[in-house]
Amino acid sequence: MTGPDCLFCKIAAGDVPATLVHADAQVVAFRDINPQAPVHVLVVPRKHVSSLDEARGADDSLLGGMLLVARDIARREGLADRGYRTVLNVGDEGGQTVHHIHLHVLGGRAMGWPPG
Ligand code: AMP
Ligand code: ZN
Repeated sequence: MTGPDCLFCKIAAGDVPATLVHADAQVVAFRDINPQAPVHVLVVPRKHVSSLDEARGADDSLLGGMLLVARDIARREGLADRGYRTVLNVGDEGGQTVHHIHLHVLGGRAMGWPPG
């Protein structure tokens, strides 16, 4: 599923509403519709890449940029000192349900380990 059929492409294009917390030329970030923690934000590239497994070497700066945006959001949300979690689910057993790569930023409560 790509482009016009992809939910996160639609959100990045502004065609589906979301609560944006960040937008730049490469990346948007918005609040998860079904939050699993007091802060739960998804960092999503504007470019459609279906999963980490589909990412290419040339996507390296895009992937690094997603991490730095996650870091900045965590700071802005007041999570940096207490800690937080970033999660990138990949494929069926990884729990990926939306097939457009996205980085979860979760915080505001203590996280368990191992994850379920
Ligand atoms: P994953 O299971 O890693 O693919 O994560 C997909 C995430 O997208 C889930 O946490 C969903 O709650 C979230 N989600 C699905 N639809 C929307 C939406 N329209 N707006 C915001 N978040 C969404
Ligand atoms: Zn997409």
